[in-house]
Amino acid sequence: MNDANAAGGRQPASPSEARSAAREDIRARGLRATPARIAALVEIRRAAAPLTHAELAERLAASGVDKATAFRNLNDLAGAGLLRRSELGDHLWRFEATDPQQEEGEGHPHFLCVDCGSVTCLGDVQLTAGSRRRSAAVGTITEILLRGYCHDCGPAAG
Ligand SMILES: [Zn+2]
Ligand SMILES: [Zn+2]
Repeated sequence: MNDANAAGGRQPASPSEARSAAREDIRARGLRATPARIAALVEIRRAAAPLTHAELAERLAASGVDKATAFRNLNDLAGAGLLRRSELGDHLWRFEATDPQQEEGEGHPHFLCVDCGSVTCLGDVQLTAGSRRRSAAVGTITEILLRGYCHDCGPAAG
């Protein structure tokens, strides 16, 4: 048995490692690993929170990737299961990297600031078993979303 000890948080050590990991993952999903696709995946994996198309396009502009290409690649990568697409109630699609080692599930919960629109990943918020049973009676959960004011926008910030 190949008992690969999967210690969590395998962070690519260098930009070139991040690029070659992205290239391998894109090829493994049967897509052509174009420079623009690799750049998009690397950028989204590096981001701390899900990115909108506009945010990604802005980050990729420096590498000479135009907006239309960035948009097409986001959809290609999402279609291949390398990115997860979320719509968090503000009519913007946001993209974040999936873990290629993990089966695609419902993903993790997010917090959306209703004032500034910033999104934060909440890895450790879980529904209780009872909540899951009650939700399952209604339908399939695709997204868990908490909305409110971030620390910058809260009442304390004025
Ligand atoms: Zn805010
Ligand atoms: Zn997230």
